[in-house]
Amino acid sequence: MSEKVAVLGAGICGLVASWTLARAGIECVVISASAGETEQSSGAWDVEPWTQALLPSATPPELAEFLSDLGLFRLASAKLQMVVASSSGVLRGAGGVGSGILDLSSYAGKNVGVAEVGRDDFDARWLARSFSEQHWAQQTGTRFVVAPLMGAYETAEANLPLAVFSHLLENEERSLSVTRSLERLRLTHPDLAVVLGGPWLGTRLHESSGTGFFASLPLPLFETLHPPEGPWGGRFERARTALLQRLTIRHEHARVVEMREDAEGVTLRLLDMSGTPFALERRYSKVIVATGGVLGGGTEIKPFAGGAQLGWSIHKPGPELSSGELGGWDPSLLPRGWLYDDQAAQAVRGQRVLRSAVSLLGTGTLGRAAARGRSLALRCLKQDS
Ligand SMILES: Cc1cc2nc3c(=O)[nH]c(=O)nc-3n(C[C@H](O)[C@H](O)[C@H](O)COP(=O)(O)OP(=O)(O)OC[C@H]3O[C@@H](n4cnc5c(N)ncnc54)[C@H](O)[C@@H]3O)c2cc1C
Repeated sequence: MSEKVAVLGAGICGLVASWTLARAGIECVVISASAGETEQSSGAWDVEPWTQALLPSATPPELAEFLSDLGLFRLASAKLQMVVASSSGVLRGAGGVGSGILDLSSYAGKNVGVAEVGRDDFDARWLARSFSEQHWAQQTGTRFVVAPLMGAYETAEANLPLAVFSHLLENEERSLSVTRSLERLRLTHPDLAVVLGGPWLGTRLHESSGTGFFASLPLPLFETLHPPEGPWGGRFERARTALLQRLTIRHEHARVVEMREDAEGVTLRLLDMSGTPFALERRYSKVIVATGGVLGGGTEIKPFAGGAQLGWSIHKPGPELSSGELGGWDPSLLPRGWLYDDQAAQAVRGQRVLRSAVSLLGTGTLGRAAARGRSLALRCLKQDS
């Protein structure tokens, strides 16, 4: 028998949706084409509205439970705002931090070393000055100083591409040389409480072997936020694979190119992406569309003379989006088996398409996308009952 529900999209939205369905005993499969926005995000857990975002209570308990199952993020435990550092020299609040990312709030008032390893994209001297000048640092008396990680890396390695450089630390020998250089740093800079490096800790550190290594370091070593295309994407992918395996949810790598519905369910036409692309058809009782925004590849805007046409990257029969009808398209006319994101529907309904479509470029924050995944799954369960 085919799976009951297909969840399209394996970003945070689709992952929360499938986690919610699995816990309700609904059989589902996750289908995704390629890395989306979630893989490009920075490692901070942000929620909306921003006015409440920095309070731990801003993440609802069921999403906190999801995050604990995913094992990739840590939420603030008290009413204390977490503070994170970007690799461009900015300090900001966050609702939670991904594993490896430094939560500065635990080191308020202390001396933070900014790791100097000779990389052009991480100027420790400039960063230490920039962090020290920021409001939070001045208010809390937190000092940032250059911390040379002597001997941790070869000179020729310093400017390897970020993805390659970050994987070096997954090697046992390298872990030893970093440990030794931290040991030296502890002797030469006894006043340092922690070392802040760039996004260099590889993709495995949230897994048990990684945790063991980091727990035994002579000085705690953490990271700034990650840039797009940084190792964060790999970290998320590994955590996602482990979670889906534990839930016994299958993850299929395919691009959905078409959806059709009849009285029995929904037929998806897929292009399998795991090898030479080939088309196949699958049937499901329901489909949850968690395909993200334009940045993640799920929504597309096709320009035409004098305007633009907005739609999902999936062809669906029924009311089509055409240049003249953008304002009139009502997603509630779509077959009941397809569960769409209301926010996207609102934007498509609006007459001022380009302006309202801005919210579709990206789908907000991780917290918002996760909440949407949960609400899509709950709607699916409600339809079932
Ligand atoms: C550079 C960057 C930095 C960010 N930093 C932060 C941050 O620090 N904190 C924060 O909270 N948020 C951040 N965000 C926002 C956050 O990443 C997104 O809000 C969130 O990841 C969206 O998740 P999603 O699941 O809705 O979409 P996505 O993660 O984009 O997932 C979409 C999924 O749909 C799949 N898909 C699309 N079309 C198809 C198709 N036709 N067939 C099959 N599969 C398809 C894709 O393969 C993908 O798996 C950042 C975003 C970007 C781009």
